[in-house]
Amino acid sequence: MKEVSGKVIKVSGPLIVASGMSESKMFDVVRVSESRLIGEIIELRGDKASIQVYEETDGIGPGEAVYSTGAPLSVELGPGLIESIFDGIQRPLEKLRAKSGDRIGRGVEVSALDHEKKWKFNPTVKKGATVSEGDELGYVQENKFVRHKIMVPVGKSGVVKSIKDGEYTIDEEIAVITTEKGKDEGVCMMQKCPVRKGRAYKEKLSPAIPMVTGQRVIDTLFPITKGGVAAVPGPFGSGKTVVQHQLAKWADADIIVYVGCGERGNEMTDVLNEFPELMDPKTGEPLMKRTILIANTSDMPVAAREASIYTGITIAEYFRDMGYNVAIMADSTSRWAEALREMSGRLEEMPGEEGYPAYLSSRLAEFYERAGIVKVLGSKDIIGSVTAIGAVSPPGGDLSEPVSQGTLRIVKVFWGLSYALAYKRHFPAIDWLQSYSLYADRLSEWYAEHMGEDWNRLRARFMSILQEEANLEEIVRLVGIDALGSSDRLTMETAKMIREDYLHQNAFHEVDTFSSLEKQKKMMNLILEYNRKGQEALNEGVDIEDIIEMPVRENI
Ligand code: ADP
Ligand code: MG
Repeated sequence: MKEVSGKVIKVSGPLIVASGMSESKMFDVVRVSESRLIGEIIELRGDKASIQVYEETDGIGPGEAVYSTGAPLSVELGPGLIESIFDGIQRPLEKLRAKSGDRIGRGVEVSALDHEKKWKFNPTVKKGATVSEGDELGYVQENKFVRHKIMVPVGKSGVVKSIKDGEYTIDEEIAVITTEKGKDEGVCMMQKCPVRKGRAYKEKLSPAIPMVTGQRVIDTLFPITKGGVAAVPGPFGSGKTVVQHQLAKWADADIIVYVGCGERGNEMTDVLNEFPELMDPKTGEPLMKRTILIANTSDMPVAAREASIYTGITIAEYFRDMGYNVAIMADSTSRWAEALREMSGRLEEMPGEEGYPAYLSSRLAEFYERAGIVKVLGSKDIIGSVTAIGAVSPPGGDLSEPVSQGTLRIVKVFWGLSYALAYKRHFPAIDWLQSYSLYADRLSEWYAEHMGEDWNRLRARFMSILQEEANLEEIVRLVGIDALGSSDRLTMETAKMIREDYLHQNAFHEVDTFSSLEKQKKMMNLILEYNRKGQEALNEGVDIEDIIEMPVRENI
């Protein structure tokens, strides 16, 4: 810790203004007062710094000292991340609570990762090997499922002078690299990485592989890619959290980063209780074994919530750099935006729409733009991805508000949850007429190759039947069902099957909770076969009522 650099001149909730800060840089982390509260400089004017404080500031007053650390807000990356539960600035909740009781104390010094624990480091390169940034030096088998790659830190390249094999803490040297300039640099298993800037990669690729979720309405109608970005907007109770949990459980991602900004007072407590209990259907073990959880409980200061999505996505990028497919869920980004609004209000910035700062959209973009599928750093061609899915909870479900609008401008997939569907208990309440996936066209190639040419035809047919139904419903509303011809009646019946038997999917049903793509295709074929046979029968003069009442429908 450096000497005192400034003095508090004003305190406004989580915002502190200090003078005498001309030596500091924007986004430097500081410690405030003898309580050593953690804060970050978010505005610098002359020698005055506005500091966003991540802990309760009551009792802090003008005149108290501010200590500069000279470093930006960073996370610790290394073995021990998996299965962790952190707060918004990567403090492990359990240790934090153990040190300070139920309400989180202030200025508590806890490190993100365990610095005492020894991990078995297994080298995969030999002395004399030439390595460059991002290359694998070895690995730690963090648990049964996660092979945690130890990479050459960014900015270090050269020849391996020595490399160890054995049990080490994350701070102990496991290798020495002689750089081109002839300098020896020690490497340990932990890296520190600033959170507000994306981690480097070699090349961004265009996303063209689906992230299969086992959720029929998503995979079939509104698919997302590995490295894609999606939003799940919907009013309270429409199923945003269930969608996020289903994706965490079932999506074919290797690593899950779940950032929770609870909506209801105790919702985050529920997540904290429930998440560790969730079983990973693929392994039969707890889902936590490939998950990192970032929790913003309601008793935490808003500033930590503002930081949490950056902490989350930096961790996600780190696992991406190992070549993993990572999915990050943020539930809900509206709560995050409210934190941003509160901080902006305290800074007395000119408020934009609905009190949100004018930079709301650019902040949202900065977050989502860090998703993607990339060729990672290193001399081998390794591909990793971060897929980002954000829930949005517009007040009253009205999508014209700034957070929804800002999000929709960026994301490529929109799973719009409808209150009406949720009310009818049609789950997931993804509105098939409103939702879209801009990846669908590009993915059609993948689907044709892996699921057969007819997949795209089946999907298109589904879409058109649903659209036709909407048009026909309009007619029915005006003139009644009797006005429809038999063929239209059949279309209506088929659409009903698509809705009730296909799009509807019970997340809590043992079998129904997941549908493989093969099963999805079989079901599509079955429903369309009914439609085709029905049409043939109609052509032969069979009465539509008889077709509708056919008992075989139950089996379908
Ligand atoms: P939100 O996060 O939008 O407020 P939730 O995800 O908590 O809403 O969902 C509210 C309730 O809706 C759930 O508790 C559950 O009963 C029901 N629900 C939502 N999605 C599904 C689903 N796919 N299958 C069955 N029930 C669901
Ligand atoms: Mg929710």
